Amino acid sequence: MKDILIIGGGLGGLITSICLADKGYNVLVIEKKEYPFHKVCGEYISNEVKPFLQSIGLNLADLCPSEISRLKVTSPLGAEVNMQLDLGGFGLSRYTLDRALYELAKSKGVSFLLKGQVEDVNFEGDSFNIKLQDGSEHYARIVVGSFGKRSNLDRQLNRKFFFKRSPYIGVKYHIRTEFPDDLIALHNFKDGYCGISKIEDNKYCLCYLSSRNNLKDHGNIDEMEKEVLFRNRHLKYIFENSDFLYKKPEVINEISFEKKEAVSNHLLFCGDAAGMISPLCGNGMAMAIHSAKILSELISIHFVKSSLDRQLLEAQYSSKWNELFSTRLFVGRQIQKLFGQDLMTELSIRFLNSAKPVSRQLIKMTHGKPF
Ligand SMILES: Cc1cc2nc3c(=O)[nH]c(=O)nc-3n(C[C@H](O)[C@H](O)[C@H](O)COP(=O)(O)OP(=O)(O)OC[C@H]3O[C@@H](n4cnc5c(N)ncnc54)[C@H](O)[C@@H]3O)c2cc1C
Repeated sequence: MKDILIIGGGLGGLITSICLADKGYNVLVIEKKEYPFHKVCGEYISNEVKPFLQSIGLNLADLCPSEISRLKVTSPLGAEVNMQLDLGGFGLSRYTLDRALYELAKSKGVSFLLKGQVEDVNFEGDSFNIKLQDGSEHYARIVVGSFGKRSNLDRQLNRKFFFKRSPYIGVKYHIRTEFPDDLIALHNFKDGYCGISKIEDNKYCLCYLSSRNNLKDHGNIDEMEKEVLFRNRHLKYIFENSDFLYKKPEVINEISFEKKEAVSNHLLFCGDAAGMISPLCGNGMAMAIHSAKILSELISIHFVKSSLDRQLLEAQYSSKWNELFSTRLFVGRQIQKLFGQDLMTELSIRFLNSAKPVSRQLIKMTHGKPF
């Protein structure tokens, strides 16, 4: 019987494991892949996480991230807005960041079961029984679901969003190119947008969100890029003047921004499993890290204070999660609606350019504060 079993070793799962191991609990993380590995993600991380990452012992400077302080947003018809980012962020690949957190977690005594896919979770009596694809079983007092935006377990847990099809697909490359070190650019195209910013080792992350229809209409990723993305001149230039470092891109589909719940069937969700913000206007990674922090704090109180029983733990976590993130998610969904169609994107960007204080306020509303 483990104290805590964590399903999914992305940012949410790794941070939760580190915080709980620091408090002396025995923690098992089950991750279906093996570190290090690439993930579809824009790899721009808000500086709001820096004090916290330092507090758990991650020395970011060792990983050589880029420092990013400016934002550019463009439309396919030519409008653009350029802004200083008040808080700013850094660029670091998930390959490097997740591996560093995995090493840190191991050094703090967290156990890992890699290449293990959880197939079934059941709450019986006052503990959990977890079944893996290979037939093995595990038991734990608390289970954290940090299995990302969409997992086989969402179906097993009968979560509503899973059964609603989502039109979004995500594609990511690492490239070498000529591009300012301190800039993150978001270049819009029909039904999607593509971000570019520097990461470690003089590389750049080029990552976009597009739609299933764009892909269906053009048959394959290459054609979709030429026919849809290249209509934004900035993207055409980047794609035609860069070295692409993977043989093929990382691709995911069915990315859903629907509402989810932070607790269900006594499972405590963190990161994207609890709710995902549109990458156009928010920082999912900072949210995953912050939700892991508040969840691990409450779990460790639950283990020492009988007054915070399971029911109260679940209620307090849900309420804290909503307090911290639900406005961000709501604003993020509304902003996302302004983009996608050429004319609407053009008008939105012109407006954001002429009303910089409003733009600054929108950025604030979709981001957090240092924690
Ligand atoms: C196109 C795109 C661009 C983005 N760009 C940015 C950005 O620039 N900045 C930003 O802050 N955020 C960005 N995000 C969001 C960010 O990637 C996520 O918010 C973040 O990865 C959430 O971390 P997580 O730990 O919740 O999930 P993940 O990092 O996805 O980790 C979940 C883990 O669970 C594992 N898993 C799943 N199911 C099982 C199972 N059954 N058993 C065992 N393991 C399992 C997976 O293998 C995975 O490693 C972007 C997202 C997309 C789609």
